Amino acid sequence: MINVFGILGVIITFIFLLIVLLLFIAIILISYSAKTKKVFFPRFVLFVLDLLYHPLKILTEKVGLRKGYIDMISNDLRNFIHYKELSKIPFEDRILLLPQCLRKIDCPAILDSAKGFECKKCGKCGIGDIVSFCEERNIKVFIVPGGSFVKKVIKFARPKAIIGVGCHVELREASLVLDYLKIPGRGINLEIDGCIETKVNYEKIKKALLILED
Ligand code: SF4
Repeated sequence: MINVFGILGVIITFIFLLIVLLLFIAIILISYSAKTKKVFFPRFVLFVLDLLYHPLKILTEKVGLRKGYIDMISNDLRNFIHYKELSKIPFEDRILLLPQCLRKIDCPAILDSAKGFECKKCGKCGIGDIVSFCEERNIKVFIVPGGSFVKKVIKFARPKAIIGVGCHVELREASLVLDYLKIPGRGINLEIDGCIETKVNYEKIKKALLILED
């Protein structure tokens, strides 16, 4: 008679060992990449990080690594993977997505139901300058009031590439949408996150917007 529990036990043990092996290889590749400043097998490492996202997140926080560590590595890997594809997209087909929390608390921008907040360039925060920078290059900018607005903007603007700013959680959520839609993107982490008056390095945004084919 077939021992169902025995077979089940073997399968579970096999899956467990496979996961441990994948994780072990991914950790070695991440460490080696960090040491040599070169990225090795990014798609494989990203696959493992996505596959084991939740347990890895808990594990890294338990061992004292900073919150969002896995999200940041995933974001860096995605940026690396998409670099070439993004570099080929003309400026007019790129859009910049900014979170509304970057605005000043007394921002006079008005919310448009299709386009998000429309910056008045009042000079109280850095958004006005980056909007002008993008206008000169025909890149559309959207200041979005929340993650769910991203899909709306994509439908409205039909971009071929997206440069997005957000906290690690927002960037991860957005990257999954972009992966699904097969749109190359570049995520830029907020330097200081939160709900109001967050901070970002605007030079990093400009650099990302200007990525061009070598
Ligand atoms: S520069 Fe634009 S986004 Fe920033 S506070 Fe002024 S109107 Fe609002």
